[in-house]
Amino acid sequence: MKIIDLSQPLFDGCPNCPVHPPVKIDIVASHAADGPEGWHMEHLSFASHTGSHVDAPLHKLKGGAPIDAFPLEAWTGPARIIDLRGIAPKGQMTADLLAAKLGDTPIAGHWILLATGFGDKREKTQQWLHDAPALALDAARWLVEHNAKGVGIDHWSIGDAACHATLLARPVLIVEELHFPEEAFRLHQPVDFMALPINLRAHSGAPCRPVLLIP
Ligand SMILES: [Zn+2]
Repeated sequence: MKIIDLSQPLFDGCPNCPVHPPVKIDIVASHAADGPEGWHMEHLSFASHTGSHVDAPLHKLKGGAPIDAFPLEAWTGPARIIDLRGIAPKGQMTADLLAAKLGDTPIAGHWILLATGFGDKREKTQQWLHDAPALALDAARWLVEHNAKGVGIDHWSIGDAACHATLLARPVLIVEELHFPEEAFRLHQPVDFMALPINLRAHSGAPCRPVLLIP
């Protein structure tokens, strides 16, 4: 089996949501400091919604389910990648756009992965931090109505508060900060997708390693 990595790397000072704490990673033990018989270790400080990560209903909905309320199967499934590269900054991904791109292909039980190209623009620029495309509210409703299993995007946010609330009420689970390598666009779809969150007890989200599994 081949595995295609859809993750973004986490590192000290890496770009992230501008209203979240900055990503801080300190080397707290090193061979450089302690010699070859010593250890090497990092101390991590960042929000649970940093880098490639999942959103559970608790992220937006009071009393909503945390990540560990879901079986691991919930974070897997057949996926359709929608190629939206070239979309304008602040572009709205509407229900009509999704319907046009997906045609008659099945959506129920599938992950819909939105490839905006902003994963390739992951830098602390005005555009990446503040002017990314977003899933429109009518598209969030459309994904709920069509029983999508989940939705992913190659940016730090899928959309605004109403968009999150609509998706997570079903829930249509959310994976953010994906990155799509070129080969992801040449695959026969649907393709098996998996984004297993690390086991943070009762958290609203967690870093994950999103991948495509190619038999
Ligand atoms: Zn999130």
